[in-house]
Amino acid sequence: MTPPLAPARTARIPTVIRRMFALAFRALGPQHWWPGETPFEVCVGAILTQNTAWTNVERAIANLRAARALDPHAIHRMPLRRLAHLIRPAGYFNVKAHRLRSFIGFLLSRLGGQIQRIRDIPPDEARKMLLSVNGVGPETADSILLYAAGIPFFVCDAYTRRILHRHGLCSPDADYHALQDIFHRALPDRDPSLYNEFHALFVAIGKDFCRPRAPRCDACPLGSLLTPAQRPHIQNASTPPRTPARNPKAPLKSTPPPSRVTRIAPRKSPPG
Ligand code: SF4
Repeated sequence: MTPPLAPARTARIPTVIRRMFALAFRALGPQHWWPGETPFEVCVGAILTQNTAWTNVERAIANLRAARALDPHAIHRMPLRRLAHLIRPAGYFNVKAHRLRSFIGFLLSRLGGQIQRIRDIPPDEARKMLLSVNGVGPETADSILLYAAGIPFFVCDAYTRRILHRHGLCSPDADYHALQDIFHRALPDRDPSLYNEFHALFVAIGKDFCRPRAPRCDACPLGSLLTPAQRPHIQNASTPPRTPARNPKAPLKSTPPPSRVTRIAPRKSPPG
């Protein structure tokens, strides 16, 4: 069990988090997330991306589009075997077909087929409703809330944990809600555009700089935030990669690349 962070270190976390956004945004610019032409497509992508690369999700979504099935009613009517066949490129296609159908059952019965109607429900209640759907874990629920509905819940993933841990802001085994709480406390305005952009920037840094092994701190936009004592420790620590388990129940998702549509316009300027 990792000991909790010292109070002095805890007190500076919000400042460091805001600085991280400013540095990352300045260096990398807007990431144009989430790729998806409609809020419904964002939801489908958020479910299909569990435990697979985004390129595979794109192929599955292309199959659905070609079959004129990127629509909740069409998927609801479709035989499960046909749905599984269409989403096969996304992997775990039988499990994901069931999950997709469960989500669509919820969408049709509770929201009349329109995810945006979830905005009429108090945010915490909306999140609980989503989490009650088979196969929707915290990361998928928050991705849907933030990127399809514009409801500000910060999305965390393995990249988030690795970056924060390496900067001494969380323990290596911090759970999803502990990580999310760090961002919600640091950015209490709950600005969906900011949460949208920040998560996307962390993914870009996680993929391009903060790799499990041999992190590229010298080139990283967040390198200036490391103390001289932290840097050699990070470079020498051969952190074992937190690869998603080959278990489709685990809610880690892969990371969509910046492309196509941003659901929510990013802020023009980063917070100070
Ligand atoms: S690569 Fe280095 S500087 Fe960049 S986020 Fe990771 S630990 Fe921080």
